[in-house]
Amino acid sequence: MPALRLTVIVPCYNEADVLPKSAAVLGEVLRHLMKTEQISRQSKLLFVDDGSSDQTWRLIQRLETQDSMYTGLKFSRNFDHQNALMAGMKVAGPVSDAIITIDADLQDDPALIAKMVVRFKSGSDIVLGVRNDRQSDSFFKRWTAETFYRGMRRIGVQLVPDHADYRLLSRRAVAALMQYSETNLFLRGIIPQLGLPTSKLYYQRQPRFAGESKYPFKKMVAFAMDGITSFSIAPIKAIMSAGIIVIAISLGMLVYAGVRFLTGDVLNGWTSLMMSVWFLGGVQLIGISIIGEYLGKVFAEVKHRPRYIIETDDYSRDQQPLLVAI
Ligand code: UDP
Ligand code: MG
Repeated sequence: MPALRLTVIVPCYNEADVLPKSAAVLGEVLRHLMKTEQISRQSKLLFVDDGSSDQTWRLIQRLETQDSMYTGLKFSRNFDHQNALMAGMKVAGPVSDAIITIDADLQDDPALIAKMVVRFKSGSDIVLGVRNDRQSDSFFKRWTAETFYRGMRRIGVQLVPDHADYRLLSRRAVAALMQYSETNLFLRGIIPQLGLPTSKLYYQRQPRFAGESKYPFKKMVAFAMDGITSFSIAPIKAIMSAGIIVIAISLGMLVYAGVRFLTGDVLNGWTSLMMSVWFLGGVQLIGISIIGEYLGKVFAEVKHRPRYIIETDDYSRDQQPLLVAI
């Protein structure tokens, strides 16, 4: 059996603080796997620079000159983590037997890479890294993540709890994934839908090695919202139920007012009037904004805009055979 060609894809957004260390650690893991002939010597460590404004790209270029195992891809601007993963898989997927995606900050245990390779060889197309302990995350992050997974399950979206974007995909899993051409991408939701042989490996998530999280609260909310509205129309249905409840309440109020009117007990009415106006106004605004969220998605999809723009692609350049002038 020819040696397995593996590409490890590392999305990087302003990761100059951690890159030297993570490149060394991941490089060591790959070198060891090469030496023990578990993976081919053509395997690569592909850094995707998601439009960093710090020294990230310069560091990646420096790594490239040190060892041909290191290679890089640079976006023209920041296009987001999920798109960085997609770009890496798009260029590396067809020329690799398997790819692994891992964060740049060493929060995901690099020791799992070797285990993922073993699982791949024994027939798994998809190997998911699952955190069995989130002690290193803040209480707030744990709580929001838990609520998110629970909520998603309730509205019928199958997610693997505590699996982020640390995973191995075989070439055919990547090819299957590439057929999902939606602009709004939520990899964690799509991958279970591929249906290919899947296995899980558990690991302990470490604190960020250096630098700070690129997922502040605002981005986390946007990400969660994306996940929900990309996979479910439950929120739109909830508007309908809310509408019915509000109408029932207002009908009850109408009956109440009618009875008071008939008994000659004239209502001042100001309080109830203001209450219903404000309440209904609020319900309507929420409803409109939820519909707007979906409409925005449809808008983004029909425009068919590219998910990302690649400025430099050293990975593909190195894959091509050299042109010989005749
Ligand atoms: N990342 C990226 N583009 C972004 C934000 C983040 O490529 O716009 C990368 C980041 O460099 C890291 C990974 O995505 O390798 C996960 O980000 P981070 O560690 O900040 O997220 P957290 O672990 O806090 O959820
Ligand atoms: Mg992180």
